[in-house]
Amino acid sequence: MPSVVTAAIVLHAFNYSESSRILRLATREAGVQSVMARGARASQRRFGSAVDLFAEGEVQYEARPGRDLHTLARFDVVQSRAALGSSLPRFEGASAIAEVMLRVAGDDGTPGDAFDALRDGLDAIAADTDATVATTRAIWRLLGAIGFTPALDSCVACDRELPVELDVSFSAESGGVLCTGCASRVPSRRLPASARATLIGWLFTKDGGADSAGLDVLTVRAHQRLLRIFVHAHLNDGRPLKAFDAWATADS
Ligand SMILES: [Zn+2]
Repeated sequence: MPSVVTAAIVLHAFNYSESSRILRLATREAGVQSVMARGARASQRRFGSAVDLFAEGEVQYEARPGRDLHTLARFDVVQSRAALGSSLPRFEGASAIAEVMLRVAGDDGTPGDAFDALRDGLDAIAADTDATVATTRAIWRLLGAIGFTPALDSCVACDRELPVELDVSFSAESGGVLCTGCASRVPSRRLPASARATLIGWLFTKDGGADSAGLDVLTVRAHQRLLRIFVHAHLNDGRPLKAFDAWATADS
């Protein structure tokens, strides 16, 4: 049985039998994997806080070829992220990005960028004063890391440049902004210049537009709606996105 050692984050965890827990892990090296933490419920000593949601650390598991469930041998926690359980907006936000990661990451490896985006996103949700803004930004950055970056500078249909000061149209299905001519041919919604600038900051600046904390409630709601439409347009495989939708439609 090959032994795998990799950085990992707990995306989902549930009890199994009297004594064990099953974890769904985002790993840096091997995409999303499921592992059995034997004895995790019976004794805190073996895995400690590693079996809690959103914990991060170095794991070692014995990979069983052809099987979907591996055996966790070791989980050295470097970050427990207990702060994510301290408030509902934080917990809902962290659950939403975890669900998006589960949806996009296969077991055949996910770009390391996606793992980093998830990790940075969870840290931001735990630390930022506005967890909803932090979650919105974090999910956009995760989508960008896996290749779903929307076109924001020029029309996604005809490539015409659209100066940043313009209000434009946005089509989630087409994957970005549209000029007036192209927008008349496909369903789209209005994207004000200020919202486009915020998105560009979130997706294309090194610090992720971390200065967007001053957005008012209605603007944040509009961003949540836009993200929800985009996520459903691109990640819809028929299965519900329960945690993501609960977050995106919550009145917080
Ligand atoms: Zn166009």
